Amino acid sequence: MAFLAKVWVFGDARGMPGLQNAVIDQHIDIFLDAWIRPHTQEITFVWSNTVGNSPLRKLNADICVYSDFVEFTTPKNFPAASWRDMAYTLHANTGLRLRNRHEWRAVDKCKYHVH
Ligand SMILES: [Zn+2]
Repeated sequence: MAFLAKVWVFGDARGMPGLQNAVIDQHIDIFLDAWIRPHTQEITFVWSNTVGNSPLRKLNADICVYSDFVEFTTPKNFPAASWRDMAYTLHANTGLRLRNRHEWRAVDKCKYHVH
């Protein structure tokens, strides 16, 4: 998924929201198939190459915070800014409930699009 993050950043730099939205859709589909947390390198790349309200950051934060993974691995190597954003996501929502794969499939992808 790190390659997709690079394509999204390219689309952001070139003002290509259609490309960015296609990347988001593909990112979610791959995430659902793989059902694994994003790699540290991808999180580092995303937080180093996007701004605070970036939909790509929001998607990665939501995946890390809301997903009901079988194994929870402590992301100790995540950059501090990414962890902060994930914590904001966690605390901005009351009644936090983890999403399983089925619930992720029902999430409106437009939530992470550039419109
Ligand atoms: Zn949309």
